[in-house]
Amino acid sequence: MNISNLFKEKKVVFSFEIFPPKKESKIDTIYNTLEELKGLSPDFISVTYGAGGSLTKNRTCEISSIVKNKYGIEPLAHLTCINSSKEDVTKILDDLKKEGVENILALRGDIPLDYKENSNFKYSSDLIKHIKERNDFNIVGACYPEGHLDSKSYEEDLLNLKRKQEFGATHVISQLFFDNKFFYDFLDKKDKYGVNIPIQAGIMPVINTKQINRIVSLCGAKIPDKFIKIMNKYEYNPEALRDAGIAYATEQIIDLISTGVDGIHLYTMNNPYVAKKISESISSIIHTINNCDKVVN
Ligand code: FAD
Repeated sequence: MNISNLFKEKKVVFSFEIFPPKKESKIDTIYNTLEELKGLSPDFISVTYGAGGSLTKNRTCEISSIVKNKYGIEPLAHLTCINSSKEDVTKILDDLKKEGVENILALRGDIPLDYKENSNFKYSSDLIKHIKERNDFNIVGACYPEGHLDSKSYEEDLLNLKRKQEFGATHVISQLFFDNKFFYDFLDKKDKYGVNIPIQAGIMPVINTKQINRIVSLCGAKIPDKFIKIMNKYEYNPEALRDAGIAYATEQIIDLISTGVDGIHLYTMNNPYVAKKISESISSIIHTINNCDKVVN
């Protein structure tokens, strides 16, 4: 299924992100994770692509195939291009095609320290263009409500987002954020640049302090004072911190849905407990929005 159709059928699309387990010995854990996520009826599940883009080490195709062919859920396979040749990308796309995967999240990837510029793919838009030429995948892109760390300016980032749309992305998923105000400002601004494809808000429930430090160093998301207060208060009580993180993400999601967001993409971190708690809390809200015409705007 081409997941761009979901945005025509539903007022709010709800999906999950998972990652292939890093250790070979943990690969079986993905079955338990998917078993539980299936019960939450996501519209699709995206599968990340390992940084660095090594063909042999990546299990995105294998896991995407499991999502589709064993669990009957539509997969969205992530694919980065910064370190790949056209031949590498063609091979991965052919493999995904063989497994019945129809949707690709086309990404540049973070620039590796040993990166040597090559002429194949410099930006995600180069990859989007390349995939579009094959005409056999639905293409999704990434966007950055707080701006991308490499961008010279917020405006330049929006021009580049417009380019993704022009080259063939049918919707975009946002980088995580902890203050919905950034997302709403971004929606206002992108309209002025003619970006009119659906935008799914990426939400990450933070359930431990190690995770938060890593996130901030990787993507630069700003942490609101309210959130820091919660993190500090429950730093030494893992259960309370987990529950507070779940509640914080749930509040963000309810606000976004009530404000009319096109979709929510939950970064599950392969933690079905967290995904379940959040899904249960918002299921009646999503049901109401998607099935009732009489929601007051
Ligand atoms: P691009 O769209 O290429 O943008 C990168 C920078 O270049 C931006 O500053 C942009 O403004 C600028 N730019 C873009 N086009 C041009 C142009 N033509 N000329 C000049 N400047 C330009 N990483 C992984 O390794 N694996 C994953 O599975 C993964 N999944 C992700 C999922 C989501 C939803 C998101 C938001 C990010 C994900 N990432 C993943 C991280 C992503 O790879 C990094 O954020 C990366 O640094 C940028 O990728 P991009 O596709 O947005 O890049």
